[in-house]
Amino acid sequence: MTLDKRLGQRFLPYGANYLDWDDMSELRHAIEHRVLFRYQTESESVASLLERRAARALSAPHVLAVHNATEALRLALISTRPRVGDLVHIPAVTFVAVAGAVLSSGLVPVPVDVDEDLCLDASLLPPGARRVIVAHMEGAVAPLPASVPYVVEDCAQAFGARFPDGRHAGTRGYAGVFSFHHNKVLTSGEGGLLVTGDRAAWEVMRRYHDHGSSRVPGHYPTWADDAHYGENFVTSEEVAAIQAQQLRHLPEILAGLERHHTIALEEAPARPDMRVLPRAEGDVKVSVRFRLESRELRDAAVAALTQRSLPYWTLDKYFLPQHPVLAGRRSLYADGFPWHLAPADQPRSLSRDGFARTRDLLDRTLCLPLSPELPEEEQVLAAKALRHVLESV
Ligand SMILES: *Cc1c(COP(=O)(O)O)cnc(C)c1O
Repeated sequence: MTLDKRLGQRFLPYGANYLDWDDMSELRHAIEHRVLFRYQTESESVASLLERRAARALSAPHVLAVHNATEALRLALISTRPRVGDLVHIPAVTFVAVAGAVLSSGLVPVPVDVDEDLCLDASLLPPGARRVIVAHMEGAVAPLPASVPYVVEDCAQAFGARFPDGRHAGTRGYAGVFSFHHNKVLTSGEGGLLVTGDRAAWEVMRRYHDHGSSRVPGHYPTWADDAHYGENFVTSEEVAAIQAQQLRHLPEILAGLERHHTIALEEAPARPDMRVLPRAEGDVKVSVRFRLESRELRDAAVAALTQRSLPYWTLDKYFLPQHPVLAGRRSLYADGFPWHLAPADQPRSLSRDGFARTRDLLDRTLCLPLSPELPEEEQVLAAKALRHVLESV
């Protein structure tokens, strides 16, 4: 198969390339144990093993495995004991799951402009902002706003990223959420982790995620007199087993991305109208991001890549102010819950120019995936092929 063809077939599922029957000891253990419910036995479950390893890998004090990052976001928000209708500031550029998690928690999302790097522009936040979700999009570590009591870091696209001070993304805010969805750095199909440095918050999260109970592993759940209601976000052993396998490969994936990113920069097209967006040292290099001079040029590059069946993506899909759910304040509830609870005297979005600049930045951005699993020679060939296509536009 030609390299073009192989590259064309791959589309971001980085972790999926590392799934291998010869390397599934955790899954084998879970199946041989014949217990797929994490709280069935008193001995350490695979889910607890995963949480322990993730805590070590991320230097995160407390970790809770759940079904996906959207649930993790909900759990983080609800654990702050908000009032229904409270506002949550979110980036104007992120996956709609962020808004969905806010709304399904009875809270109202307020999109905020992003800066040149597509990170939430904290200088627009009002002085009294209490809850802010910051998304580390495309592995790019976003700065966190100061003096906000509850900053939730959305690390769904940034497993393994680090702040300039060396601390892991997800561990500096009130809570951090991670995703194992197929399209992320690590995959178990679906899956999520919630991390926090706050022991009391972790205990609230843990109770809520298991029907509000204070369950002791190996026993039927029990409820304290002051128990609150909860839901069921408890993960399964076989899923945790695959996540544990994926987590073992994280250093290798990060190194492979790093190497391919360096090569791609060396082979960047030599033209002033296609600028590579710089990445910080601690970013996960999930892509090479270009900012083109115009939308027309970006679309021409997209057409050229499509014609060659080469993989790329754009970020237009993440523009939330125009998403039907936000633009139309949509809800399944007959009374429009929770949109109708938003305080009338607060702005519904925060932008200097009606999101014109944010829109323009997205229109001119193009992302090219990297292939951590390829040997170096093939990474060089891939980078040269892309350069050739981009220079011919
Ligand atoms: C994928 C993604 C989510 C949702 O993650 P799931 O695990 O699929 O629920 C949330 N935020 C961002 C930025 C994402 O990319």
